Amino acid sequence: MPCRIETASSPLPAARPLPDALAWIDDDLAGLAAADLLRPHRIRQGKQGARIVLDGRDLVNFGSNDYLGYAADVRLTKAASKAACAEGFGAGASPLVSGHSQAHENLERAIAELLAVEAAVVFPSGFAANSATIAAVAGPADVIFSDERNHASLIDGCRLSRASVSIYPHRDLIALDAALARASAARRRLIVTDTLFSMDGTIPPLADLCEIARRHGAILMVDEAHATGVFGDRGSGLVEHFGCSDGVHIRVGTLSKAVGAAGGFVAGHRRLLEWLRHKARAWIFSTAHPPAVAAAATRAVHLLATEPERRRELLARATTFRDQLAARGLDRGGAEAQIVPIMAGLPAAAVALSARLADAGFFVPAIRPPSVPPGGALVRVSISWLHTEDDLARLCHALAD
Ligand code: PMP
Repeated sequence: MPCRIETASSPLPAARPLPDALAWIDDDLAGLAAADLLRPHRIRQGKQGARIVLDGRDLVNFGSNDYLGYAADVRLTKAASKAACAEGFGAGASPLVSGHSQAHENLERAIAELLAVEAAVVFPSGFAANSATIAAVAGPADVIFSDERNHASLIDGCRLSRASVSIYPHRDLIALDAALARASAARRRLIVTDTLFSMDGTIPPLADLCEIARRHGAILMVDEAHATGVFGDRGSGLVEHFGCSDGVHIRVGTLSKAVGAAGGFVAGHRRLLEWLRHKARAWIFSTAHPPAVAAAATRAVHLLATEPERRRELLARATTFRDQLAARGLDRGGAEAQIVPIMAGLPAAAVALSARLADAGFFVPAIRPPSVPPGGALVRVSISWLHTEDDLARLCHALAD
């Protein structure tokens, strides 16, 4: 017999129109539109690559983080389909319960080997790895020191932790040193920084950061999201490139950019990761990413070892491109790597520049607040190993125009 659900009759007379509890959204969207801050919702047709089809327009693609061209590499697709056939698609549970498959275990080992550290833990995303790790390591009795240009996932981790947050000017280690000295009474002091800033393409002086952390007895955590796969002889990132692995306590990276798959990781000492498995809420309370994704990421991590020429060629082409921009007098900020911002200033200027570049056949996204500070809108050129020298020369020419 079907179950009957009794509902109480409404206590409100239905005479007056009910207030619209979501009316504020219309005001908010109108405010964003007036400030040129509405974001388009584009649909990509087909794969990531040197070219991209967005909303039916075929453009040269300078708007993805597929730095080494692995996102649509058939070797990753094959690894993923083999794992999906063997292990099914969904992970089914959090890693803590039954979601940690053999594919995830293999990936964690491959990452630990790449970074030459004792252990690694894989998270469903780089965002989760950053925010959960900070919120686990720091609490209300602690102070976090955060570069003003850090990624949103680091900022949200700081907020989640409920620690005091001291934001220091971009790469200003004198200010950081002074702030650390002022906070000597804190229980723990944690310094967090990107190693390659995602919108600026800038790199902090890592060796000096390690020295400051060591002098103050502070914990140093770095986010290598845009450096993983691109820097270092083995391709593990800028910590390796600068020979700083002993001075960095917590290394975070993503599998979603140069690695061409998805997910994030934290790597370092075994005791840190054993502890994080008990404390990092996004690892404990979120379903593991699919084993097929882990298998594709593992394949790409192995490719980093066998195809080092990709990162060398990428960085060489990026240097040539930055030199070409400088020769034409274009402001590329302090970019030092494969991410090259072209400063536009106001949001409307960035949107107009991006639209004109699209008319010339290039996808170069406009980046506006809150991704960058007010007045710092830009178009962000992401260079991939898949681009030819001709792609870059033509983009440079279009920008100069
Ligand atoms: N850190 C930085 C610096 C990033 O740019 C991003 C992604 N844009 C992340 C972390 C988050 O990584 P994921 O996309 O894997 O969640």
